[in-house]
Amino acid sequence: MSASNLIRRRSVYDVAMKVAVIGSGISGAVCASTLAKNGVSVTIFDSARGPGGRMSQRREVGEDGKELTFDHGAPFFCVTNPDAISLVHEWESIGFVSQWKQVFGSFDSASNKFLGFQQEEDHTNNNKKYVGVPGMNSISKALCNHSGVESMFGTGIAKMEWLEEDIPWLLKDSKGQNLGRFHGVVASDKNIVSPRFTQLTGLPPPLDLSLVPELATTKLQDIPVLPCFSLMLAFKEPLSLMPAKGLSFKNSEILSWAHCDSTKPGRSTDSDRWILHSTPGYASSVIAKTGLQKLSSETLNQIAEEMFKEFQCSGLVNSLPFFMKAHRWGSAFPAKSIAVEERCLWDRNRNLAICGDFCVSPNVEGAILSGLAAASKLLQASSCRL
Ligand SMILES: Cc1cc2nc3c(=O)[nH]c(=O)nc-3n(C[C@H](O)[C@H](O)[C@H](O)COP(=O)(O)OP(=O)(O)OC[C@H]3O[C@@H](n4cnc5c(N)ncnc54)[C@H](O)[C@@H]3O)c2cc1C
Repeated sequence: MSASNLIRRRSVYDVAMKVAVIGSGISGAVCASTLAKNGVSVTIFDSARGPGGRMSQRREVGEDGKELTFDHGAPFFCVTNPDAISLVHEWESIGFVSQWKQVFGSFDSASNKFLGFQQEEDHTNNNKKYVGVPGMNSISKALCNHSGVESMFGTGIAKMEWLEEDIPWLLKDSKGQNLGRFHGVVASDKNIVSPRFTQLTGLPPPLDLSLVPELATTKLQDIPVLPCFSLMLAFKEPLSLMPAKGLSFKNSEILSWAHCDSTKPGRSTDSDRWILHSTPGYASSVIAKTGLQKLSSETLNQIAEEMFKEFQCSGLVNSLPFFMKAHRWGSAFPAKSIAVEERCLWDRNRNLAICGDFCVSPNVEGAILSGLAAASKLLQASSCRL
């Protein structure tokens, strides 16, 4: 039974379950709000300062003191699955999602020519590009504010302990502080079992896989990932030579994508703000030299210069930005999907679901579907408890 069917069938009074959701990216936020709609008491924990994960929005300040916002992760998303479409239509009707209708182009860096355009009127059905309003993180923000969801930002989960008691899961932060007891847990980041967590924090991964032998065989620990650099640019005036507001690059070793963020609905138009994405190959070559530790501003500036120079080579950039800053996404895209059929991992003995884009497909839609599937598993488990 799908999570949306369960929503219709269950009463909010018949569930007494406390669930922790680790991560407020779109998969965790969709899961949390779906559970809360069904009367489950949900606490979301995110180590980041705010919601959104890879759909976050970066706030910067220009030299004139004015705020600059950039969707420096996912720039937009498309949906084709009926469950995802109906959820996105619901969000659209509430007002925190909107279609982004602009001209998009495919640019060949070898010939310095556009290969083709998608015009505004071509944005039909599967071509529709959706964005959060006023930022990509607005979706997670709204879902985390759903009644029945408590959100704890700046709170990373460092330890998931299983106690043989009525409320068995105990979560702790990196200082060993007790963050609460829960009947079930949804983890929306594969890092909870991966050595990458140790690389980043120096601590063992939060979840000991011997607790969940059913999941231990899924190779969750070593899902390959593709990195990406985002370059945030702000220009005083619109780039007048540019015939498209979003460009995918062909035959560039450095750039894969560029878009004008300030043309999305609900954004400030005080400046013309662009975001460039590097190719995974370029990002991997940088990371091979620098490792995964925090990058110096000198290195980030050098990356920014290289990416901007490639953008200028298109011949379409006729002014210099007054703001320019690079950001590294060490794990921008999972390079493998590990639960395409089931859409999430589930250990019924522990009431533990693991969801995220790495389960279904490396995009927002995959993450939405995975979050819905995780909620469905928990709701079925909660109905068995009654
Ligand atoms: C540069 C870039 C471009 C992209 N372009 C597109 C695109 O055009 N279209 C598209 O559909 N998708 C795109 N994507 C992919 C899309 O952003 C992701 O597929 C989607 O956002 C993944 O959501 P998620 O919930 O699975 O994971 P995430 O968004 O990564 O959420 C995981 C959350 O868990 C938190 N977390 C992790 N560990 C812990 C812990 N121990 N304790 C507490 N919190 C923790 C993290 O802080 C994070 O907020 C892009 C991504 C990037 C980076």
